[in-house]
Amino acid sequence: MYPWLEVHWSFFLQRLQQDRLAHALMIEGPAGIGKNALASAMVAKLLCSGDEPRACGQCRSCKLLEGGAHPDRFEIYPEEDSKMIKVDQVRRLISSLDLTTSISERKLAYIHPADSMNKNAANALLKSLEEPVGNAVLILVSSDPASLPVTIRSRCQSIVINQPDSKQASGWLQETTGKPAADVNAALQAAGGSPLRAASYLESSELDAFAKVTAGLVTLLSRPGAVSMVSSTLADIDPDDLWRWLSICAGEAAKSMMTGIASSYLPAEADLPLKPLLSLQKQADVNRRLSATPLRGDLLLQDWLIRWAEQSI
Ligand SMILES: [Zn+2]
Repeated sequence: MYPWLEVHWSFFLQRLQQDRLAHALMIEGPAGIGKNALASAMVAKLLCSGDEPRACGQCRSCKLLEGGAHPDRFEIYPEEDSKMIKVDQVRRLISSLDLTTSISERKLAYIHPADSMNKNAANALLKSLEEPVGNAVLILVSSDPASLPVTIRSRCQSIVINQPDSKQASGWLQETTGKPAADVNAALQAAGGSPLRAASYLESSELDAFAKVTAGLVTLLSRPGAVSMVSSTLADIDPDDLWRWLSICAGEAAKSMMTGIASSYLPAEADLPLKPLLSLQKQADVNRRLSATPLRGDLLLQDWLIRWAEQSI
């Protein structure tokens, strides 16, 4: 269990021991902090027939789970080539939960990411949240719970995981990856503070791409006319990463202007107006969602970079 999840695990165990666990849980929090790891540990514990604080790993249930063949565990997620959980998947899930339990005391449904349910799927699930099926526990995972209908959220007990503080995240990363503090901190910055995403950056070449983004932004502050050049250096970066990073950088610049604490990538003398920075951050988030559509990504990028470059004038 990741150290920053311990408090959530204790909460869950306490509820379970007091027999006060809701029949639907929503694990919320940013990407890359271990929501699915927490959900999996909960699923295993709820199915295990032992009484240790963690799933025992030895009982029949644990063995079946390990082999991916537990008959009381159900999981839905967007099927191949689809970004959405569809209504048929939810209907199949509900009818499976209706069947009598075969091995464990409970049936477990694990839905992730819950915010990928389309409207019909969410409506279908709502029925089983309103009239819970006997001994079923539903575990929903979402990094964007605000996009789920309020009716769904209000019927779940939410477990909100926040980013661990940078000291804890950095300490954990240095210990588990053995990388020096400077690399770890750059990875954490690129990951917006999410330790698991930072860990994957440390194993890949993505940090070089992130460095290109920060270098490009700094260049534009002194050479606002260099938009085309900077834009071409960023052309090869995966759009999802690129927009996430531009959002992180604009957000960090805004934070630095608000607090007066120097940002790790901006020149110390940078003095940028706050409001446009916040608007640029928002626009980067919007553009990230648009990057999945056939819109001309290069035009969006040029436009965003021009607005960024204007801030230094
Ligand atoms: Zn067990």
